[in-house]
Amino acid sequence: MPLREWHSEEYGSHSGEVVATVAGHEVIDCTICGFKHVVPLPSAEKLQSFYEDEFYQNEKENYLSEADEDFTWKQVEMKLRFNVAGQMLKSGGQSLLDIGSGPGDFMAVGQQLGWQCLGVEPSKVACEHTLNRGLKAINGFFDTELAQQLDTFDFIHMSEVLEHVPDPAHLLGTAVELLKPGGVLCVSVPNDFNPLQAQVVEGASRDPWWVVPDHHLNYFDFDSLETLIGNSGLVCQRRLTNFPMELFLLMGQDYTTDPTLGRKLHGWRKSMDIQLANNQETQAALYESLANAGFGRLAIVFATKPMQ
Ligand SMILES: [Zn+2]
Repeated sequence: MPLREWHSEEYGSHSGEVVATVAGHEVIDCTICGFKHVVPLPSAEKLQSFYEDEFYQNEKENYLSEADEDFTWKQVEMKLRFNVAGQMLKSGGQSLLDIGSGPGDFMAVGQQLGWQCLGVEPSKVACEHTLNRGLKAINGFFDTELAQQLDTFDFIHMSEVLEHVPDPAHLLGTAVELLKPGGVLCVSVPNDFNPLQAQVVEGASRDPWWVVPDHHLNYFDFDSLETLIGNSGLVCQRRLTNFPMELFLLMGQDYTTDPTLGRKLHGWRKSMDIQLANNQETQAALYESLANAGFGRLAIVFATKPMQ
């Protein structure tokens, strides 16, 4: 694997082995950042217009309608996250900040469970959808300026956010400042370059389909995510994941090139999760054991802020 060094005025120095090349973009295992990311990183200006105006309109055209269709299933995973966070919470309250709240699903579940929820979401369309559901959200990017206007929170949730931003350590640090001592952070990102994906790529001599450099700048696994969270001053407590979709590929079901098959297989795993929801202990034990072995489609990490 060739070594790549990259430096920019905006993002500083980066260096590491090239682990994938897709559509002219290289992904390096950056020894400076401690996780894999694309080089060169796009400018902040370009990213801002993409997430404010285009992401949910163009890139995720069906997302809002599919999100409604999937809500019953999503509630299962989300309730588990609230349950796990509740078990480790020591800050005394029930306020939630959802960074990158999308259409507001996580907050909708939180509200049912008695949490006071606030979202931050750059997409105007997704934010409008949230407000129409009677939930609170600020339309904008979560940055230092916005954070200064906010209160502190007992629980901060960030689902599928850190893979999209050019400086995840900075974003995480800003979020941690808003977390109360004894509060809980839950971060969820795709679990990429995982052992099952590696097996599919090796077995079928194919490109790494999960590398989507226009959307995903960073590629984490459980270890690199926990290192990043640990560096922000929090203590990592527990890992969870969701269904390892790569198992379908190893069964010869290539959903990556066939959206109809993708929805069908997605339906199967939804059925499984909905049935498991009747016994949350079994559901948590299954996904926690997969996560601890590095498997599963998402890397979900729960961490707490020391009481000082
Ligand atoms: Zn780097």
